[in-house]
Amino acid sequence: MRQYHKGRLREMPRAPIWRKPKKNRRRIVDAVCQRLLAFYGKPRLGNPRDPVDDLVFLVLSNRTQFETAKLVFNSLKNTGSWDAVAQLSVKTLERKLQIAGLANKRSRQIKRALRRISTDFGSCRLDKLRGWSEAAAQDYLTNLPGVSNKVAKCVMMYTLGFKVLPVDVHAFRVSSRLGWTTRCRADECHDDLEALVPPELRYAFHVGCICLGRAVCTPHRPQCLSCPINQFCVYFEQHEHEFENQT
Ligand code: SF4
Repeated sequence: MRQYHKGRLREMPRAPIWRKPKKNRRRIVDAVCQRLLAFYGKPRLGNPRDPVDDLVFLVLSNRTQFETAKLVFNSLKNTGSWDAVAQLSVKTLERKLQIAGLANKRSRQIKRALRRISTDFGSCRLDKLRGWSEAAAQDYLTNLPGVSNKVAKCVMMYTLGFKVLPVDVHAFRVSSRLGWTTRCRADECHDDLEALVPPELRYAFHVGCICLGRAVCTPHRPQCLSCPINQFCVYFEQHEHEFENQT
């Protein structure tokens, strides 16, 4: 597997999980997902149910605190409709987005995305994507201004009923530590993880990783001893001795 690392194309080792026989691999993936499901359930994590609501909310949430993004989202919703938001001047939108940061860039992206949706579907609604194929829906969404692969997959998973697997920083960190990917960036491992996690378990894995990543599998000093999936984790296996004094 070749990928760019620090600007150079390098041969990367296969993730440890892929070196296991298929049957063991399936058993481990199933067990991890089921444990995450048992611990954290299937929360929506604040994602609105309407696809356009979710799309705007996710664009606003990127690198912005949840509460701040929610505040700005509510202020946009109070405009009346997304079609009305699409008609606002960039300056007005920019003022509304000020507290969320990156107002200049985001106001333009949101306005252009909403106008494109309105032109393509007759109004600012994305419900028709439910009848599209997964590839076509993803292609449409990722071609909207400011919509990354991760945002597109989140909209598809949270609101359109597609069984895709968005990989955010938490899912990436947990997957890397579990030994499920050796990729360098979250946006590079969507396909690898979708090949590993069966469609019916992807939602539970995604939200489970976010919950685990926020409270237990934190970037620094993960709380491995209280982690529900530590018996399947390569990181824990390699660092177990460091936790011995904590027991
Ligand atoms: S055992 Fe530790 S490193 Fe592994 S997933 Fe759990 S918290 Fe993260």
